[in-house]
Amino acid sequence: MNTRNLRFRSNRVRDILALYHEELDGIYGSGEVSAFGEMLFEAFLRWDKVRLLTSREQTIDQSDLLRFHWALEDLKRHRPIQHIIGHMDFCGCSIAVSPDVLIPRPETEEMVSWIVKSYGLRVMSGGILDLCTGSGCIAIALKKAFPTAEVTAVDVSSKALAMARQNAKNNGVDVHFVQADILPVNCQLPTANCQLIVSNPPYVMEKERAQMQPNVLNYDPALALFVPDDDPLRFYEAIAAIAKEHLAADGLLVVEINEALTSETCAVFEAQGFAPKVNEDFRGKHRWISATR
Ligand code: GLN
Repeated sequence: MNTRNLRFRSNRVRDILALYHEELDGIYGSGEVSAFGEMLFEAFLRWDKVRLLTSREQTIDQSDLLRFHWALEDLKRHRPIQHIIGHMDFCGCSIAVSPDVLIPRPETEEMVSWIVKSYGLRVMSGGILDLCTGSGCIAIALKKAFPTAEVTAVDVSSKALAMARQNAKNNGVDVHFVQADILPVNCQLPTANCQLIVSNPPYVMEKERAQMQPNVLNYDPALALFVPDDDPLRFYEAIAAIAKEHLAADGLLVVEINEALTSETCAVFEAQGFAPKVNEDFRGKHRWISATR
């Protein structure tokens, strides 16, 4: 394919960015499209923001232009930028992502940073258990923050675990991964006396599908997102039962939640003898519960 077959006016950086804005601003808004430009120039050419800002008149190779062409087509189809690039940053760790795992959200990153900041001393060298680990982002970031902690991460999906194992390796951390479905009562986990149990389980109700974006619906795994409308707290019930058995007396439990079910989720933990506290994310939404006995 040569430039004439592509819709870019030239190989110039300025023209590439202009076409991105023309074709994508209507879908994503201009601020997000500028961010896509920065992320793609960084991923494809290793240009940082300053280089991009000062190189508007520069031209790029035809093979690189082709990558920008395909990325533009993908973005028009709502393919997430993280899948196009293949990896993303989570608490300073590089996490590879694919349709087999939920793309880590900034809210989850905020929850992990909060754990490190508020409870670092308490969980520093105890056992940590991450339930429904997906890409492994939470477990890996915590192991990086607390190198002496023994971190175990559980997921039901073998494809997700393969990705999580690869992510742990890429980040040079040792996490123990276990394939298990936590829903059956008395699910057996090879870990006891944890100082921290953490989870971002599926919590979106089927009836909330209508409010979700196509990039989430078409590219994030439904298994990691949805719970039935008539049993939306099933994972929290399982987590509370596991915590009752595996959490140390002075241990900490932290779970991401659906803000539409805040009080109901708190009640699940109260019923098992925990004292839950609700925390807000940077958007001011109820986003995670922390609980002690
Ligand atoms: N917060 C995620 C979303 O909005 C859902 C994460 C989850 O179900 N655990 O898509």
